[in-house]
Amino acid sequence: MLARMAHDSDRPSAGHQHGCDHDCQTCGAAPVSGLAACPFCRAAYAGTTPGVTCPGCTGVNLQGRTLCAQCNGSLTRNCVFCNAASLLNLPQCSRCHEAFAGAEERKRARAAGRAPTTNADPTGAGIFNTLNSILKS
Ligand SMILES: [Zn+2]
Ligand SMILES: [Zn+2]
Ligand SMILES: [Zn+2]
Repeated sequence: MLARMAHDSDRPSAGHQHGCDHDCQTCGAAPVSGLAACPFCRAAYAGTTPGVTCPGCTGVNLQGRTLCAQCNGSLTRNCVFCNAASLLNLPQCSRCHEAFAGAEERKRARAAGRAPTTNADPTGAGIFNTLNSILKS
């Protein structure tokens, strides 16, 4: 009894409940753990590193997250070549380093045996004609 009363009395300003992490300084919304920016006003939380922006809810997730902190959606995609999961903000597969841009088309082209090759000219006529036109000009 006496001990509890003494404990209460050593905190005279108990009404001040500020400082649980970081409320959004712009709109005052409670922070969403796992996000790097306020989902309401888009202001970045101080001291966080933004990672992938969720394609589902547009929440800016902290760097390194693979699931959205807000909607639990996936923040990775699977490589069409090696099937490894890579974060959506990477330009290429983190395992086999195939660029994601046009990956589907490249895979189809390879499967069909039509991998793009440099159009070699076995006779060399192309180069000869080019030289010839340069000399004539
Ligand atoms: Zn805000
Ligand atoms: Zn989301
Ligand atoms: Zn890959």
